[in-house]
Amino acid sequence: MDSAVRALIEALPFRPLVRPQTLLPPIILRVWRWRPLKPYNGFSHAERVLNWQVSDWLRCAGALLAPDVCDLCRASAPLGLHAEDYTDPERAMFLCQDCHFAVHRRFSVPAALAERARAPDAAPPWIAALPSSPTDVATQLRRAGYPELLDRLPPWCEPLVTHFRSDHRGKGDGGSNLVEQ
Ligand SMILES: [Zn+2]
Repeated sequence: MDSAVRALIEALPFRPLVRPQTLLPPIILRVWRWRPLKPYNGFSHAERVLNWQVSDWLRCAGALLAPDVCDLCRASAPLGLHAEDYTDPERAMFLCQDCHFAVHRRFSVPAALAERARAPDAAPPWIAALPSSPTDVATQLRRAGYPELLDRLPPWCEPLVTHFRSDHRGKGDGGSNLVEQ
């Protein structure tokens, strides 16, 4: 694995999943109803949507706890999940919409990302570790033996994992038990 990719993975926030103390929510997953996602960090549309569906379910279950403020600009604003490693929901970032756009647009507009850190001296470590050009992080992780998303979820996520493994509805393709949101 490139040292730059290793540094990126190590710099990402780490929020361990919390085992819910209540009943798990039903396996009702959001459906991707927008245009197909372009590959990012080597992760395909299907892999990115899978991460989105799994992470959303984990948030609903109370297992993935969002911070009160954006991980980059520290603003109190509606926060969305951003992944650099789509196999690991514990390494997700929570970003406001402007910061999320800036991260994805950094290859063409690098200055916009730097401007998002309200206090540059206090910028999170992952900012400096983000690849400055498109990088196939996914292939490097797989060659290094990192587990896939469904393989790294804890045992209590078994109903969710079984859902994805028992049929192919997990791709966000509008299967009968998916709910559009
Ligand atoms: Zn922000």
